[in-house]
Amino acid sequence: MSRIRSKDTKPELAVRRAVASLGHKYRLHVKGLPGAPDMANKRQKWAIFVHGCFWHSHKGCKFSSNPKSNRLYWIPKLERTQLRDHDNRRKLDDEDFSTLVIWECETADSTKLKRLIVDFFDTVQKVEKTRF
Ligand SMILES: [Zn+2]
Repeated sequence: MSRIRSKDTKPELAVRRAVASLGHKYRLHVKGLPGAPDMANKRQKWAIFVHGCFWHSHKGCKFSSNPKSNRLYWIPKLERTQLRDHDNRRKLDDEDFSTLVIWECETADSTKLKRLIVDFFDTVQKVEKTRF
């Protein structure tokens, strides 16, 4: 169960490419925001998280199988990650941010990925319109 956690993972790069191709400006790993979202735009109030299916326990996903070894170590660790994720999204919500979680397994198909992102920015723009 050794998995290297790194920035600039393949799923992240796929998401960045898709967001950039739609002309959206963003910053990476924004430390000033809850959970340091992988991509965010503070002025436009949106944040995107790219989550690894295993690390973030993607429900019903074949990549988030329950760890079979070292369960006493992994299960609390994964549960803490889930709680933290939940908390971070709630905090962003409190600050009127639109947030999107893109799962690693959703980045394989670039057409579907783009669809997800387009739909998300549709809602971001609607929120902007109602706000001002
Ligand atoms: Zn998944």
